[in-house]
Amino acid sequence: MESHLESDYAKHPEPASPAVNTASGKPAPCRLCPRRCGAVRGHGAARCHSGSLPHVAWAGLHRWEEPGISGPQSAAWQPPESQPPGLVQPASRPAPQPASRLSESPLTAPQPPARAEAPASGAVFFSGCSLGCVFCQNHAVSRSGGAGRPMDAPALAALFLSLQRRGAYNLNLVTATHWRPWALNALALARAEGLSLPLVWNTGGYESCEAVAELAPHVAVWLFDVKYHSPALAGLLAGAPNYWPTALAALRAAHAAAGPAVQRADGLLQKGVVLRVLVLPGHHRDAMAILRGVAEALPPEEVFLSLMRQYTPNGDARLPKELRRTLSSWEYRQVAGEADRLGFTRGWLQGRHSVGECFVPHFEVQSKP
Ligand code: SF4
Repeated sequence: MESHLESDYAKHPEPASPAVNTASGKPAPCRLCPRRCGAVRGHGAARCHSGSLPHVAWAGLHRWEEPGISGPQSAAWQPPESQPPGLVQPASRPAPQPASRLSESPLTAPQPPARAEAPASGAVFFSGCSLGCVFCQNHAVSRSGGAGRPMDAPALAALFLSLQRRGAYNLNLVTATHWRPWALNALALARAEGLSLPLVWNTGGYESCEAVAELAPHVAVWLFDVKYHSPALAGLLAGAPNYWPTALAALRAAHAAAGPAVQRADGLLQKGVVLRVLVLPGHHRDAMAILRGVAEALPPEEVFLSLMRQYTPNGDARLPKELRRTLSSWEYRQVAGEADRLGFTRGWLQGRHSVGECFVPHFEVQSKP
């Protein structure tokens, strides 16, 4: 971990801990996410499994996001040689082996010289999650806020800057909803030290409008999952029956703040919203309802749609029967057809090769120090 920032840190005052009531100096109940569970972070059972100091499970140059985020060499989304208008169709090439994924982590391995690395998204995966879907593919870290390395604001800022030096296209904060004030504190420190990367807020969609308003001045691209339309399904799989209205309101606020998505000549997104929809086996109609609901709320041509078919059963004993298999091509085609009918003209489709554990991130999970 590069630590040059720490020697300069005296120039910056220590940000107030968001886990503490600054007026009283006492631990404060947390209401950061729409669960508003009121847990005292670090002193009780938070629904997001998180304490009072962010833990980073993985960070590095990440090639498994969409091409608009990770760049044209994105491993999980392989566009054909000539792109047709509209949604980019999946290619039939076999999936590359993600053998280099672990070796990229600055948390676990020495960094190679910057010139040896291909640019990609500068991703920081935070531990814990305020949504906690039963099928989560990142469950190794989403269900343990203590997985990974604890990092205070200076350490996070130094990490952000190290990603910039390694040639990242952007700073991609993955599941930082429950760490929002901590992340913004670190971002301010890093900006003061020269961080110029555009910020990608990579979220499960369970955000409040208040959070979106606070984040909006800092976020260039919203990488915004919308996971459920049905309250019953959201209740069953995430214990969040209010998910759809909450996520839709936040998505509308994000779109209002960012405006229509803008793509650079090299394919990277400059600003805007990427709507991510993971089609679940047995629930393709729910995914279609999500698309219809979004298309009623926003001009579909103003967002990028990332329609994902990479669902892989995680082995959790609580999975309902239909989630113990992968998605069929027929199910995926139904949703892709609905997207086309609704006018989602920009975005990406995934090929069949994207199913399998090789596309599940491999985290180097460490226990609490
Ligand atoms: S961020 Fe965590 S502790 Fe805070 S309200 Fe949400 S689930 Fe509760």
